[in-house]
Amino acid sequence: MKRRHFLKNTSLIGVGIGLGSSLVNCAESPKGKSTSAASTENQTKTKLPFVIATWNVPNATAKAMEVLQANGNALDAVEQGCMIEEANAEGQSVGKGGLPDRDGNVTLDACIMDKHGNCGSVVYLQNITHAVSVARKVMEDTPHVMLAGKGAEQFAISKGFKSENLLTEASKKAWEEWKVKSEYKPIINIENHDTIGMLAIDEKGDISGACTTSGLAYKMGGRVGDSPIIGSGLFVDNEVGACVATGLGEEVVKTVGSFLVVELMRQGKSPQEACEEAIRRIVTKPNSNYKDFQVGYIALNKKGDTGSYAIHKGFTMTKFQEDTNTNMQAEHYVKS
Ligand code: ASP
Repeated sequence: MKRRHFLKNTSLIGVGIGLGSSLVNCAESPKGKSTSAASTENQTKTKLPFVIATWNVPNATAKAMEVLQANGNALDAVEQGCMIEEANAEGQSVGKGGLPDRDGNVTLDACIMDKHGNCGSVVYLQNITHAVSVARKVMEDTPHVMLAGKGAEQFAISKGFKSENLLTEASKKAWEEWKVKSEYKPIINIENHDTIGMLAIDEKGDISGACTTSGLAYKMGGRVGDSPIIGSGLFVDNEVGACVATGLGEEVVKTVGSFLVVELMRQGKSPQEACEEAIRRIVTKPNSNYKDFQVGYIALNKKGDTGSYAIHKGFTMTKFQEDTNTNMQAEHYVKS
């Protein structure tokens, strides 16, 4: 389903229900039944394993759950889950088919983090679909945490990744239409993104996370957002919990959002309270133009509680726990 249509549908159905249980079921899911998230939450919140992801990505969470239910670990689950969206050429914000920058280049950012606090990331990666897997290779096979541009691409090819053109006909057409006016507005509206961020907690209670994106459509050449920046787009601390972000990356970076959420959980906040506080830090900044952009967080803690919060209506989280793969609308800061 295209993001634009999905947002239209869910805005009619989902209604937030308050702190700590502020997610409600709002969409059908192809690989699992839909139930009320509020009632499911109380009964099953400590049932491991489970996986959560930004936006409506039931096929990705289903893949991650398949890995987890086969006794796989959380790291394999988040990588393989994200790969589903990267390979989906219909999705225009992740991997193949991602919308290009203003010069027509599709450039990918991704990162991954494991239960030991190890991490890997790639920025401005071109011609390689599975950026999240390259990030994992950076983590596991190099002494570094981040590779960029040509170096990242050459590294990927040396590891056997296939080089291919990621610009699909549909994305090329969208870019050509955009070029007519070439309006470059370095802001993000609530529809113009759908980075996939995924967090999983496996049978043993170990946590990993991953994040992958083609970034802001029609961004300046060379622009990198929050998604590959450890602590901003993603942070995992296996003793506490994990958080992943989506939305206008510049605003997430300025507040080191995902690290902030995990640190707030360390200090005793629930995942829901921590996500809300991190959004508050953005919107209460002097002269913040938060009405013009979206940021959303999802988080989980070691106990298996989850939370989600965004600036604007329309942000959703997909959660697969036991046999239920559910998409839920998040509470949001702007009420009108
Ligand atoms: N956070 C991403 C970025 O700024 C965009 C997104 O979430 O869609 O690159």
